[in-house]
Amino acid sequence: MTLPAEDVLLTSAATGWICDKCGEPIQTAADGWVQWITARDGTARQLSLVHHKPASPLGGRYGCQFDEDIVRRGDRGIVSDNSLVEFVGPDGLLYLMQMIKRGVFPLDEIFEMIKRLHVPGYEHARLHFENAIEAGILGEPSDDAFYTQEQIVRVLRFEESIRLSREADAYYEEKMDL
Ligand SMILES: [Zn+2]
Repeated sequence: MTLPAEDVLLTSAATGWICDKCGEPIQTAADGWVQWITARDGTARQLSLVHHKPASPLGGRYGCQFDEDIVRRGDRGIVSDNSLVEFVGPDGLLYLMQMIKRGVFPLDEIFEMIKRLHVPGYEHARLHFENAIEAGILGEPSDDAFYTQEQIVRVLRFEESIRLSREADAYYEEKMDL
């Protein structure tokens, strides 16, 4: 299905990413960091997208990235990581496909990262799926929630209308206080 131009604009306007650790926006790919933990048996887990340390609002030794000491002490896993720059664009998609082929990651984690980095609008819509389902904007999810662009646009529109009405409420409340 081809989306109307204004809907394409809506999904492409939702740019940037959201840090799994601090919840703040990651503005550019150079500010982003993809990390995971490799266990002693070679399996990988906790594939996540966070701020690269220099861009982290948290500061400290590791910023938003995994604390390597805690990971090592836990189950003697090691932190593996790479710049978000390596995961975006066509080569980034190939990189993620190679990670699938290695067979050491939980598939759900890789699919989620592919959606976040390569499906327009998904990164911003994903945080509102639950509310959208509750409000009847989306149907009850099936086991595999692979949302289409049409569904993602619906969620982004829903979120936008909530945000606007919240802003309007705040505006009138402020006026009433004056
Ligand atoms: Zn962060």
